[in-house]
Amino acid sequence: MTAPVVETDGGLYAARQKIYPREIAGRFQSMRTIAVWVLLGIYYLLPWFRWSGRQAVLFDLPARKFHIFALTLWPQDFYFLTWLLVIASLSLFFFTALAGRLFCGYACPQTVWSETYLWMERLVEGSRSQQMKLAKAPWTAGKVLRKTAKQFLWIGFGLWTGFTFVGYFTPISELAGKVLHFSTGPWETFWVLFYGGATYVNAGFMREQVCKYMCPYARFQSAMFDKDTLIIMYDDTRGEPRGARKKGSDRQAKGLGDCVDCTVCVQVCPTGIDIRQGLQYECIACAACIDACDEVMDKVNYPRGLVRYDTQNGLEGKPRHVIRPRTIVYATLLLALSAGLVYTITHRNVVGVDVLRDRNALYRERPDGSIENVYNVKILNKDSDAHEFRITGTGLPGLIVDYVGPTVWVGPGEVQGVPVRIRVAEDSLEGGADIEVAIQATDRPELRAGGKARFIAPSD
Ligand code: SF4
Ligand code: SF4
Repeated sequence: MTAPVVETDGGLYAARQKIYPREIAGRFQSMRTIAVWVLLGIYYLLPWFRWSGRQAVLFDLPARKFHIFALTLWPQDFYFLTWLLVIASLSLFFFTALAGRLFCGYACPQTVWSETYLWMERLVEGSRSQQMKLAKAPWTAGKVLRKTAKQFLWIGFGLWTGFTFVGYFTPISELAGKVLHFSTGPWETFWVLFYGGATYVNAGFMREQVCKYMCPYARFQSAMFDKDTLIIMYDDTRGEPRGARKKGSDRQAKGLGDCVDCTVCVQVCPTGIDIRQGLQYECIACAACIDACDEVMDKVNYPRGLVRYDTQNGLEGKPRHVIRPRTIVYATLLLALSAGLVYTITHRNVVGVDVLRDRNALYRERPDGSIENVYNVKILNKDSDAHEFRITGTGLPGLIVDYVGPTVWVGPGEVQGVPVRIRVAEDSLEGGADIEVAIQATDRPELRAGGKARFIAPSD
């Protein structure tokens, strides 16, 4: 069988070379490992937390309610989500201006899941060189076994990821029961497989291709950079001319810089680039090359930092400016928006009322000479505690509000409809009028809301 010929000269697309990043230990790798554990820990465990008898974080789409611990967001609160998205975008601008692609290297889901899939690959197939050897080896029983075991782990982890994702939208303990009995609904099945499949393909196979070709952030991030943005760079003044040398030899006598041209920084790079060629858009700022080069520098007894976090100005020997107009503007906006969001959420009215007229009868004349209108009063309790509500009315002299009660109990995050009859003596009416129906919690009088309604009189 002949190997397929890949056209690269003049073709539209370069063939992808699989990258086998070398495992690395170091300061930044430790931070990335902690970030992976924390972020994945939050993602997989959060849906299992309980709060006041319900799932702590649940985006209940059928009921159109988003529960986030003590907070319940209703459709009318969805502007908070827009607000949150603006804060998230601004944070991205702020941290990018400050420290480059910090998000890409430490917190981007693509990075976090790719790290996990890489870890599973190493667990089954061994180190970088063992993986490369295995890839070239003929298909023996041992190779089939290793490749199958890896796929088993990858697919299992992908499905668990998809299951957890759906667990944010449907109660996860119920979903687990359905999965165990193979009785998930069509949409649940679709989303578990879709999200699980996307994780498997993106983190298992596409990896750096997503960052290079699909992520828009990689394309526009350079617009947010300036000469004071912290980026990962190779100090070519110190490193060049590069070249191999014997340990302990005099590099100055040989006319060499500090780079021993070992290519370890390239071998550890998950996107397969050479940081020594300068800042490239493919660089996700994972800092693996810093750890790698520091290790090499330690071995040859040169000072660390040939590859390091620095600014363009710093590299050119000019003063570094972390605080500058751009970062001040971003930080101020970020603080103002975040404080505003916290204030608005903590001070929002968590009760509401809708007053709907009973459309079956405009009004009723009662034997005692009063005129009666009937309404359906919907009491909305967005609070995390239940409350007893009293209903009152204003807007007409001698108005009487009659409903089952003296109070109406409404559970946390619930809407309770109450039929309410409002009566007014006919001789005190000059015609219909706008009235207000108000609700007030008996245990917390500050929780009150009102709604307008039309009172219809016979003369209307
Ligand atoms: S060049 Fe360095 S920081 Fe950039 S992606 Fe490669 S290893 Fe990570
Ligand atoms: S790891 Fe450091 S010394 Fe080795 S090639 Fe890279 S920059 Fe040069």
